[in-house]
Amino acid sequence: MANPLPAHAQTVIIGGGSIGCNTAYHLTKLGMRDVVVLERNRLTSGTTWHAAGLIVAGLLKSEAECEIYTHGRDLYARLEQETGVPTGFRDVGYLQIASNPERVHEMRRAAPFMRRHGINIYEISPEETAELFPIGDLGDVLAGFYIPEDGRANPVDVTMSLAKGARMGGARIFEDTSVIEILTRNGTATGVRTADGQVIAAENVVICGGMWSRQLGATAGINLPLQAAEHYYLITDKIDGLSRDLPVLEDPKTYTYYREEVGGLMLGLFEPGAAPWKLDGIPEDFSFGEIEPDWDRVGPHLERAYSRVPSALNVGVRKLFCGPESFTPDLAPLVGPTPELRHCWVACGMNSLGILNGAGTGMVLAHWMVDGVPPIDVTGINVNRFTRNEATRAFRRDRGPELLGKMFGQHFHNESFETARGVKRSVLYDRLKAAGAYFSESHSWELPDWFAPTPEQAKIETYSWSRQNWFDWHAEEHRAAREDVILMDMSSMSKFLVQGRDACALLNRLSCNEVDVDPGRVVYTAWVNERGGFEADLTVTRLEQDKFLVVVGENSHGHTEMRMRRHIRADEFVTITDTTAGITQINIHGPKARDLMRKVSSADLSNAAFPFMTAQEIDVGYFNVLALRVTYVGELGWELHVPSLHAVQVYDLLTEAGQDLGLRNAGMQTLSSLRLEKAYRDFGVDVDNTDNPIEAGLGFAVKLDKPGGFIGRDALATIKSAGVPKTRMLQFLLRDPEPLLYGNELIYLNGQEVGHLQVGAYGHTLGGAVGIGFAGLDEPLTAEIVNSGTWEIDVAGDRVPATAALKPLFDPAMERVKC
Ligand SMILES: Cc1cc2nc3c(=O)[nH]c(=O)nc-3n(C[C@H](O)[C@H](O)[C@H](O)COP(=O)(O)OP(=O)(O)OC[C@H]3O[C@@H](n4cnc5c(N)ncnc54)[C@H](O)[C@@H]3O)c2cc1C
Repeated sequence: MANPLPAHAQTVIIGGGSIGCNTAYHLTKLGMRDVVVLERNRLTSGTTWHAAGLIVAGLLKSEAECEIYTHGRDLYARLEQETGVPTGFRDVGYLQIASNPERVHEMRRAAPFMRRHGINIYEISPEETAELFPIGDLGDVLAGFYIPEDGRANPVDVTMSLAKGARMGGARIFEDTSVIEILTRNGTATGVRTADGQVIAAENVVICGGMWSRQLGATAGINLPLQAAEHYYLITDKIDGLSRDLPVLEDPKTYTYYREEVGGLMLGLFEPGAAPWKLDGIPEDFSFGEIEPDWDRVGPHLERAYSRVPSALNVGVRKLFCGPESFTPDLAPLVGPTPELRHCWVACGMNSLGILNGAGTGMVLAHWMVDGVPPIDVTGINVNRFTRNEATRAFRRDRGPELLGKMFGQHFHNESFETARGVKRSVLYDRLKAAGAYFSESHSWELPDWFAPTPEQAKIETYSWSRQNWFDWHAEEHRAAREDVILMDMSSMSKFLVQGRDACALLNRLSCNEVDVDPGRVVYTAWVNERGGFEADLTVTRLEQDKFLVVVGENSHGHTEMRMRRHIRADEFVTITDTTAGITQINIHGPKARDLMRKVSSADLSNAAFPFMTAQEIDVGYFNVLALRVTYVGELGWELHVPSLHAVQVYDLLTEAGQDLGLRNAGMQTLSSLRLEKAYRDFGVDVDNTDNPIEAGLGFAVKLDKPGGFIGRDALATIKSAGVPKTRMLQFLLRDPEPLLYGNELIYLNGQEVGHLQVGAYGHTLGGAVGIGFAGLDEPLTAEIVNSGTWEIDVAGDRVPATAALKPLFDPAMERVKC
């Protein structure tokens, strides 16, 4: 008789695929022994059993991606020694090919960054590429990028080995046990109920249910926007002489990966125009299942795949396999504590990387659960980054087809998804479009990226890593901000009214800066966790004694709201109202901002009557708006918070009044270039939960001695007491005006690699590309070292001389802002 289910477990994991077993394994490694895994059918029966088992890095663009990847590759290579169960890992090597100059350039930008983060990737010649992959028709290849340590593993063996390791650590695994309900009380997960009615009470419930996770989560009100899609590989009959040690090859041009499979060749597709599978829900009884291949749809894609290995057409097809895999709206997984339910965690939505990234994901989640904070930057994978829009059937239906191809194809820094657009639009959208806006997408918002002279010209002629067709128009916006005045629609900024008797106590507990200020004051502050790592950077404006406005970037919407709600104490009275949809935010900035505002408002806008970092309600024409005198671009100006029913009228009034002042609309590219000239930080872009405000140069906004302290105060006090940090965020300006920066470029000090840029843009006023990044030394990074050192930035393999600075290179004394 099978072992009976326990009545209680410290942690119940739902799902026995790669992710569930990885999470169990890593939890037991951290000492959590009372772990139960419940699997509906047999281990691996969902998606894991049919994965191709590539353990290859791909093109990684963040530290977090590198850390997750290398953890898995290294674990799978050594797991057998620990558990006695082989993983089938073989380091046959991994080859990415580039067959156009833009791809070569992209890879040359990415490779040094990946090398810095433990991935031994290097460029090889077309001849060397052809030698490594003799079966390929590689005549058009300009360069190869090779990682000898990467390879392939057997996904079922990997999972069984992890399961064995988890059991050795104390975990219990139950198959044929389906969870039908996540039990809750007062917004907290308390356990699960199985299909045969048994209840397991648990302190933590972890959803690792693969493509079933969305529907399972929905039963408990949890938003998990993922969608299964058809995913194909073809295996040919045996090809004489094909080596078992053939490296895995990936080709963005044919959207295909290639590897040896029992003497034949596997051609795996990541085709553009993929097919979502079962939009209305995954069948409960789909186990070790396959999908009937749609030959008509994939025929042209297979043809393209074969074009790289035409000799493979000489043998027959052993199998065209189609299986479902979960994809998320932004191609990053869903990981972390769920905002809807306390003590409920999730790891799913693996976007076809759930074997190779399964271990890293399980490791991150396990640490997050045990330590209370994640060990790596999780801003890009945190499940709380989505709103419920992205889980709607229509969104999944429309975005789904784009995802596979996007995952594999060639990328550019300013590319947006093309499907499921227009989800969140400011009421100014039509006005901005008519004014020539080109829109990009972020977190489902339509954001004006830059403005063309006419709407017809608002398109990208050719994607490129060098200057694109809009560069000069963007330069004009930038110039207008520094010389005249610009208007930016910043409605995507998230806005929360935080009110009630204990609103001040809550916000002050979260904030490093002092927010118990007089009504009418605007405070810039970081929020940090117990270890001093960033959780947000934002402004808090005290509107009244018990009424605050919290404004934060759209990428932090869910995280900021969750953090506030989770920290309200049982005896506190605070309400949090998300006012984002009802308020249009219009930013007016530039030396002529006051002249413009004076033309439309009767308020006293002098520096004395309306100083920097204060807020007032003022009239603009017929309308009353909340004006915040604050800047993210380093110029005089105001954020106008306009009720959306007045916003178009206010926009028209400002546009009309600004005509003789040189007013221009400006977009996100200009926001970025302006803020980087001022070296302003941005949580989730250049600082994250693994960075702290002291090293990030934001110590001025940390009030260690404020009454009552704040969360993370002691950690920051310890960091500060160590003196000048060894790692510090610096601003860099390239001395050569030609090269462009996008982030991830390596930083060299006196010939030694000391860090990488987080983000870059073109500083039109400073006359070259600018970026910010952390540089780390073995000794304190003093101003003397910064100022006297020889700094260089690696741009696609070329070391470009740069100026480094601790203080902003543009207007360090804030004279333009405080005037
Ligand atoms: C054709 C193809 C090729 C692929 N190739 C690769 C590759 O080369 N490399 C790579 O890294 N990835 C690859 N993948 C992706 C990889 O297979 C997945 O990302 C990975 O298997 C996901 O693991 P998972 O644990 O999230 O999901 P699953 O393996 O589906 O596991 C989820 C488990 O949860 C169980 N479950 C669901 N609901 C319940 C419930 N209510 N109660 C109890 N149990 C439940 C299911 O039975 C299932 O076993 C490929 C995928 C496909 C389709």
